[in-house]
Amino acid sequence: MNCSEFNSNIKSFNDGSIDDDILEEYINHYKSCSQCREELEIYYLIHKVFDGDFEQENKGMQDLNLKLSLENDIKSKEDMIYKEYKQKFLFSLAFWTGNVTAIITAMYFIFYIFL
Ligand SMILES: [Zn+2]
Repeated sequence: MNCSEFNSNIKSFNDGSIDDDILEEYINHYKSCSQCREELEIYYLIHKVFDGDFEQENKGMQDLNLKLSLENDIKSKEDMIYKEYKQKFLFSLAFWTGNVTAIITAMYFIFYIFL
């Protein structure tokens, strides 16, 4: 992902509508590009303030630490990606184990019947 792609997805990242397929690349770019990181932090701040949920989340806090809040958001999205990977992996493992078992069983019967 390049910087202009990153910037064109800032809005969808902040409102949570970003495509799952690009989320991982998005986070990778966020980590590797300090310019875009700053850009996202600014928009994140604006989004949170205008969205109104920031005040609620941080009621009673003296220091509004938006950077930390953004990092937590990134972290939870990363966890989500990781969980999805794990699910996909387990699914394909179950799928292929099932297939291999079926093939071995079929071969066993073929040998059993014909030999
Ligand atoms: Zn960039």
